[in-house]
Amino acid sequence: MRTADAVIVGGGVTGCSLAYQLAGLGLRRILVLERRFIGAGGTGRSVGIIRQLYPTPETTQMVLRSLAVFERFGEAVGGSSTSPGPAMAIPRP
Ligand SMILES: Cc1cc2nc3c(=O)[nH]c(=O)nc-3n(C[C@H](O)[C@H](O)[C@H](O)COP(=O)(O)OP(=O)(O)OC[C@H]3O[C@@H](n4cnc5c(N)ncnc54)[C@H](O)[C@@H]3O)c2cc1C
Repeated sequence: MRTADAVIVGGGVTGCSLAYQLAGLGLRRILVLERRFIGAGGTGRSVGIIRQLYPTPETTQMVLRSLAVFERFGEAVGGSSTSPGPAMAIPRP
């Protein structure tokens, strides 16, 4: 019988991040089940903006923590990555 330490449904940023974090915690047999292809959902359409203000303090804290990950993303996962830069949103009058 085939077994896994963790089974994750969905190969978007949530599922892939979860797999990455679980691997960091020492799990070795992690199965990501994706019905189409990695990044097939909203993840593949994201324009990559990391805004830091969200409606709840919990979400804002989560994004601030993820920003720290993005700042060393290339070092953490290998390969090249683009460093986040500042941006400003200007509402239309
Ligand atoms: C046009 C657009 C632009 C965006 N721009 C930004 C941005 O700049 N910054 C930002 O922070 N966010 C942005 N977002 C939002 C962001 O992309 C999503 O919040 C994020 O990608 C959601 O990730 P997820 O892994 O939760 O879901 P998804 O990326 O949707 O992944 C879910 C995956 O699960 C799979 N799945 C579903 N059901 C099953 C099943 N039963 N079995 C197997 N697989 C299954 C799907 O095929 C999919 O691949 C944008 C979204 C869109 C649409």
